[in-house]
Amino acid sequence: MLFSGLALLTLTAIWLVTLSLAERERSAADRQAAMLAVDMAETYEAQVVRALREIDTTLKLVRYSLDGRPPQDVLEELRQQDMLPPALLFEVRLSDAEGNVIASTHEPSDGYDTSPVAGQEGLRVELHRQVESEQDSRLAFSRRLTEEGRHESGWVSVLVNAAYFVSGYESDALGEQGVLALAGSEGILLVRRTGENIHTGEQVDYINLLEDNDALGEPARISVSGWDGVRRYLVARPLFEFPIAIVVGLSQADEMAVAAALRHTYYWRALLVSFVSLAVLALLGRLSWKLRKAQAKVLEERLEHARRAEYLAFHDNLTGLPNRAYFSRLLTKGMQHARRYDKHLTLLFLDLDRFKAINDSLGHDAGDELLQEVSRRLGSAVRESDTVARLGGDEFVILLPEVTHPSQIAQVADKILTAVSQPFTLVGQEFRITVSIGIARYPADGEDEQTLMKHADVAMYHAKEEGKNNAQFYSEQLKSDSLERLALESSLRKALERQEFLLYYQSKLDMATGRVIGMEALLRWQHPELGLVLPKQFIPLAEENGLIVPIGRWVIYTACRQNVAWQETGFPALGMAVNLSARQFLDDGLLRDIKGALQATGMAPELLEVEITESMMMQDMPKAVGVLQELREIGVRIAIDDFGTGYSSLSKLQAFPLDTIKIDGSFIHDLLDNAGDRNLTEAIIDLGKNLGLTVVAEGVESAAHVEYLRRQACDQIQGFYMHEPQPAEEVALSLKKWFGSESLY
Ligand code: C2E
Ligand code: MG
Ligand code: MG
Repeated sequence: MLFSGLALLTLTAIWLVTLSLAERERSAADRQAAMLAVDMAETYEAQVVRALREIDTTLKLVRYSLDGRPPQDVLEELRQQDMLPPALLFEVRLSDAEGNVIASTHEPSDGYDTSPVAGQEGLRVELHRQVESEQDSRLAFSRRLTEEGRHESGWVSVLVNAAYFVSGYESDALGEQGVLALAGSEGILLVRRTGENIHTGEQVDYINLLEDNDALGEPARISVSGWDGVRRYLVARPLFEFPIAIVVGLSQADEMAVAAALRHTYYWRALLVSFVSLAVLALLGRLSWKLRKAQAKVLEERLEHARRAEYLAFHDNLTGLPNRAYFSRLLTKGMQHARRYDKHLTLLFLDLDRFKAINDSLGHDAGDELLQEVSRRLGSAVRESDTVARLGGDEFVILLPEVTHPSQIAQVADKILTAVSQPFTLVGQEFRITVSIGIARYPADGEDEQTLMKHADVAMYHAKEEGKNNAQFYSEQLKSDSLERLALESSLRKALERQEFLLYYQSKLDMATGRVIGMEALLRWQHPELGLVLPKQFIPLAEENGLIVPIGRWVIYTACRQNVAWQETGFPALGMAVNLSARQFLDDGLLRDIKGALQATGMAPELLEVEITESMMMQDMPKAVGVLQELREIGVRIAIDDFGTGYSSLSKLQAFPLDTIKIDGSFIHDLLDNAGDRNLTEAIIDLGKNLGLTVVAEGVESAAHVEYLRRQACDQIQGFYMHEPQPAEEVALSLKKWFGSESLY
């Protein structure tokens, strides 16, 4: 814009100056030509008047000299006295009244077309026109030989070539199209010269010619000459003493040629300057455009950088989801909106189950990949209007602004659970991961951000406690539970050093002999305020925060030492079963810990049996097989605990080096009323036998149970019906009793 304006301005200025210069030049040339024409007219007038006066003097001299003498003699005499004008140019002639030549300084000549062109009393002027060769035409100036009023006796004439009067024509001064002419008062141009051309006898409007030029001393005016149509600065002057007018003209085209050439030069220069200025401006314009573009680019980059920075500040860079800070804003805004329009909101708090195990065992890259996939699945499980955010680690939150009815919420939660639990492929292996979901609703479960988040978190922990892979709504009851849980967690960390853990032991009996053949070590926590806390209440916690590893190490060592202690007291060697948790099982230090315990206590490895669950084995089959094989190599026995509750196919069991299957207590519990449980129990016993494994039934609570299991030829039984778990000292007392009797049931 700026540069177009500048260009327009520059061009206007250049051309205004140029045009005004050209105009000045033109008008100067015009004035000069007009003045010049007048000057030349004055010069010409003087020349013509001088010539005419000489001619008139000759005429008068001849007339005076005649005085009755023979005319030829008089002419001869005058010629000899050198009183006549040069014969080369002038002929002096005497003629009678009829016009017949009676004496002449020249031989008679003919071919002339004689016409009077001006006449008055005194001097008469005639044009003797030579039509074939106009420059040979002559002008005759005559006077009567006698005085006025007397008898006509003839004429004396001086004839002169018409060209003589225009011989002063100089192309340098008058150009090619100028004019020098004499006009006769009868309306005939006596002679006219333009360039090299001489004309005679042309018609001219004498009155008009002179009228146009009445202002003496004024510059010449321009007019179109009637005889040749050329525009000229024309001056016509009548001569006072003679019936003749002189005409001088300068061609406008000739006179203005220099000015026009100069004007052209100006125009060309102006054109060049315009072009150069335009080019310079265009260049400047382009440069400035480039500069502006570069500036705009820098600005855009800065903006982009700022946008990116803002994006990073508010998004999780692994998954691209809104981060905690951003979510907090969104939640606050959502709550404000809901408050104003009296709406409800639902907050889902998600925590992946066993994520840490995957991250630890497969590496962080695989963990990251998993988180990305989970976030994708979460995104597609909910609606556009819902917000999915990542709080960090394996924690996600989802805000549902439109779903408010509990059944709808449960549906969404189910959809999420299903989406997440689909198999993943990570580092070439197939995995499953589940998620626990806590649900809190606005405004029922919290009216501010912190409360709502906290309550959703509490509900999520409850979902974990309920066996993970499920969703729980928040309730007031949960809150008190969670407070307890919080207290538990902090005291759990100190429990080990405060020696608050202890082991209870429950017996296992051989079905055939009815005698105690082994013990299972069961962990208890003697909490200073809560009293005896059962494993169900704190093991998931210890599993989550990793404390299970040192606690488990203590369990193994304590169980082994107890076993050896009983033997040292004189009891027979009993088997000792120890439960392992998932985290412990995948811990690289497990083998070292077991070997260490066996070595430190001196217990025979064959007496030790580790109990693991199906899900622990299936989580990472190749690794599980490896760990189990190593355990088998040092002689430790392996039992699969709570069998039947997992999802593993029975055929897969073959892949593992197992010694014992423990049928889960829940099947035994309903055995007598539930045909399904009965069938399953029988199938497991069959399977175990076919695989050559020892089958143990847990949770045996009645004689009917014992009876049924005996009929199914179950190998061993364990349960309250025989013995409840007891502390070591009480077991020692019982052992004394047991080994005294034959059979315990
Ligand atoms: P589990 O290994 O299946 O242990 C058997 C559970 O059944 C024990 O519960 C036991 O007290 C209970 N029980 C025994 N007989 C009966 C009966 O006749 N009826 C009923 N209803 N229950 C019976 P406890 O001691 O509360 O342990 C629960 C679970 O905690 C154990 O299940 C085991 O998975 C885990 N656990 C216990 N001690 C440890 C430990 O030192 N380390 C690990 N990782 N887990 C442990
Ligand atoms: Mg067990
Ligand atoms: Mg069990």
